[in-house]
Amino acid sequence: MAKLTTNDYMTKEDNFGAHNYHPLPVVLSKGKGVYVWDVEGKKYFDFLAAYSAVNQGHCHPKITKALTDQANTLALTSRAFYNDVLGDWEEYMTKLFGYDKMLPMNSGAEADETALKLIRKWAYKVKGIPKNEAKIIVCDGNFHGRTITIISMSSDPDAYTHYGPYTPGFINIPYNDLNRLEKELQDPNVAGFLVEPIQAEAGVYVPEDGYLQKAAALCKKYNVLFVADEVQTGLARTGKMLACDHENVRPDILILGKALSGGMYPVSCVLADNEIMMTIKPGEHGSTYGGNPIAAKVAMAAMDVILDEKLIENSNRMGEIFRKEMKSIDSEMVEKVRGKGLLNAVVIKPTNGKTAWDVCLALKENGLIAKPTHDHIIRFTPPLIITEEQLEEAIEIIKKTFKEFEK
Ligand code: PLP
Repeated sequence: MAKLTTNDYMTKEDNFGAHNYHPLPVVLSKGKGVYVWDVEGKKYFDFLAAYSAVNQGHCHPKITKALTDQANTLALTSRAFYNDVLGDWEEYMTKLFGYDKMLPMNSGAEADETALKLIRKWAYKVKGIPKNEAKIIVCDGNFHGRTITIISMSSDPDAYTHYGPYTPGFINIPYNDLNRLEKELQDPNVAGFLVEPIQAEAGVYVPEDGYLQKAAALCKKYNVLFVADEVQTGLARTGKMLACDHENVRPDILILGKALSGGMYPVSCVLADNEIMMTIKPGEHGSTYGGNPIAAKVAMAAMDVILDEKLIENSNRMGEIFRKEMKSIDSEMVEKVRGKGLLNAVVIKPTNGKTAWDVCLALKENGLIAKPTHDHIIRFTPPLIITEEQLEEAIEIIKKTFKEFEK
């Protein structure tokens, strides 16, 4: 049989798969470290890293080994029984992040849902909010996943249109607006404030310095839980273990996912202290796969890699170089560069009818893949293991690509 081409694979997905994504026209078949290869054998720098799930690089040997060893030993028990790995992982995470308890789930959205349920339980059992009256403050521009409840909090019409009726109980306020936050916090039925320390999906919006610390202090003042969704910003991506660490903020509930498995497996979790976590009793929440032995082993290996390979330091240092170089690009298309660590975005000014999508297509031709978010922003988030030499090579590709649009 003749070898399938890029077009064949794309046509197959178009014909048989739902059209809920608009991928860049590249079909990947192999990954190693910061590189991926397409079915034609062409090599690319991966500057999306699966939306920051692959912080540790593709197919990291230590994480792959953890996965295969455990898959050959015991894969899934459900939580109907104990397994001999989950406790180790829970101990690892709670000690590392400094919380009493951890609750394991699979996707980021599930971890966010878990946090929402914890906020509500705490509202009724601890804060004493009247039944079904609890409210949660969220920010415009948020991205917490795709479930019905999560899109009920969204301000993005693409996310919520035609999915109603929506889950009630949310108050949307502008991001980075402390006055408005304090105004809403005065409502005694508010139980939680759910926030991304940097709004990544929205286009890498970094709030003003001090925002997180002041927001957390306001939450404390009004006896409201400060809940950080670090699914994308966490685990060294922004040059600290957590983006909240930039402001020495300890969330009451911490939500993690994506790089928790180094891209190997869907693993997420929520961390909190007993006052919050112990409000949920047996049978009141869970997931068949959440906390399975493979997930536990993979997550411990993925965390070991972040610590052993000093990815926090590297993310910080490479991020500084990257932003400096992006800011030095002399192109009218480059409107703005922003980010922290290796979570960065370049805002594109459409020029001569060419948009961020066209830039991404040209980058692909030149050997680097990245994806636009919201039409005019390109997010650049390589694996955090990237070396200075590799980064310089990637920067040259980006500079060359912008030059091509000058012609
Ligand atoms: N929360 C944040 C901040 C995210 O960026 C994402 C995904 O991009 C999610 C939650 C949802 O994670 P998942 O796609 O694993 O459900």
